[in-house]
Amino acid sequence: MSEDIQLIVDGKRLDGRDFNELRPIKIEAGILKRADGSCYIEMGKNKVVAAVYGPREVHPRHLQDPSKAVVRYRYNMAPFSVEERKRPGPDRRSVEISKVSREAFEPVIMKELFPRSGIDIFVEVLQADAGTRTACINAATVALVDAGIPMKGLITSVAVAKADGVLVLDPMKEEDNYGEADVPFAFLIRNGKIESIALLQMDGRLSAEELKKATQMAKEGAMKIYELQREAIMKKYSSEEIEEQVI
Ligand code: ADP
Repeated sequence: MSEDIQLIVDGKRLDGRDFNELRPIKIEAGILKRADGSCYIEMGKNKVVAAVYGPREVHPRHLQDPSKAVVRYRYNMAPFSVEERKRPGPDRRSVEISKVSREAFEPVIMKELFPRSGIDIFVEVLQADAGTRTACINAATVALVDAGIPMKGLITSVAVAKADGVLVLDPMKEEDNYGEADVPFAFLIRNGKIESIALLQMDGRLSAEELKKATQMAKEGAMKIYELQREAIMKKYSSEEIEEQVI
């Protein structure tokens, strides 16, 4: 990370946003026929698809857990999702993102209801512009609800970065690359209230005071995303009702 380029000009960010402003977000639930649940999300220039399968039988069978469901999460970046072609297949970064994202979801999914079975979450990044892990988590949550997987709440994710010495919500590529810190968060939101932090990572440096402020900014951003996640789910369910009535 360096401070070669100016990220804040006249009190605004390079894309014109205020410090505490999210990128435009679009969420659509139930976009894939073959998955049990699915979601498409755009967070700024990020474009992500999530697909959920299960609860279903786990293969290979030795991975089954007789007391609860096994949750698997695979984060993948398409070769065409970044400027330079990304080498296909898993790498250290995608393995790490898959692990921390799975750990964010595991305590929320009611795994005890489905012994011996598996719940598979696939997230595919079609276009990347920083914050893909947060976009993927937001899409995965909606896809899990769409699949009818019982959960204790929703997981909502957003990052905060430090760019040119100020904290900015939902950093885009330039702020992520040239900023002084990048801190992705995910929260468990239950009954419209943030209950706990489900994921917290930090690349770079923040003071304790800055981390406290970043957490508050992320919480406020997450609540806005949560409303959009809920809207996408409600829209899917209400259109299904209409379809049923027509049939
Ligand atoms: P996140 O996407 O969650 O912010 P990172 O901080 O690791 O994760 O990555 C920031 C951004 O850097 C990505 O969103 C993407 O735009 C870019 N990036 C990541 N990996 C690659 C890669 N292998 N090739 C090119 N760009 C990449």
